[in-house]
Amino acid sequence: MRCIMNENYILGLDIGGTSIKAGIVNKWGNLKGFQTIPTNSSQGPDQVLATINTLIQYYQEQDSISGIGIALAGSINNKAGVCIYSPNLNWRNVAIGKIIEDSTGTEVRLINDANAACLGEYFFGAGRSYNNIICITIGTGIGSGVILDNKLFTGNSGLAPEVGHMVLIKDGPRCSCGRKGCWEALVSASAIIKRAAVEINTGTSTMLNELTGGEKDSLTVQYIFKAWQAGDSLAVDIMTEVKEYLALGLANLVNILNPKCIVLGGGIIDLDSELTAGLEDMVKELSFPSFKDTVLIKKAKLGNKAGLVGGASLFLKEIETLGGQYVN
Ligand SMILES: [Zn+2]
Repeated sequence: MRCIMNENYILGLDIGGTSIKAGIVNKWGNLKGFQTIPTNSSQGPDQVLATINTLIQYYQEQDSISGIGIALAGSINNKAGVCIYSPNLNWRNVAIGKIIEDSTGTEVRLINDANAACLGEYFFGAGRSYNNIICITIGTGIGSGVILDNKLFTGNSGLAPEVGHMVLIKDGPRCSCGRKGCWEALVSASAIIKRAAVEINTGTSTMLNELTGGEKDSLTVQYIFKAWQAGDSLAVDIMTEVKEYLALGLANLVNILNPKCIVLGGGIIDLDSELTAGLEDMVKELSFPSFKDTVLIKKAKLGNKAGLVGGASLFLKEIETLGGQYVN
């Protein structure tokens, strides 16, 4: 067993632009009382914070909670407990840590959601047996976390890593960050949909037209994967290339960080498809020879609960030594 919580019950929260996930995590990483509620982020920080307070009150009435670990989609100053900027929530400089501590009387620890998911998988999920892992979540965008020698690596700014923004094609497709050719602009769900939509608009023959009933706005990754599985030539072309870029990006990370394990999760990984079939071999083929024999690629185990479990893990006794970047 890798870790024991300081106390028995920690409340984990994962606050994203669309939903807030919450649950009580015990010292073995087991979760109870999981629920998801809408964030309603358009109502502004005050209203969202009021919603969070009500949610915390509910859990405080159920159990004696000794800490609140919050994973939040955005740039975080974890020492100050401040969300510096969150495009998903449209927040700037929200001192959520102090606000929640004052209203609940319970200690709050705050972390970026991708780093939280990485900690969750490291302590309780697919990465639990390894000292050096990279955790990558591929959905609309790419989230990432890195643990090196049992420590969460957050870089000079405390905001790293952003593996989704390594550039793989000079002057490639435009990325959400404003630059071109980032990994995220090649393999994320939004990139896949965008590329298929462009092809459909140029009149390329594809069964995606039937699957969507001609409604371009209803194009989803699920439809594209279905067409891929059925051998639709457009979907096969797109997904063959996506898989190659997925492997190439992973191999670059292997070459730089020499991880023992890469944990892959997120919407497009969770879908039942050929995307991860044989992927480990493809990555090994593209990796630096000395590193390729030892790297493992595993699917994430905690699913959409990794963030809140990782948030709660900030109260692990061992976090000060294992995740020394957080408490200092
Ligand atoms: Zn980018």
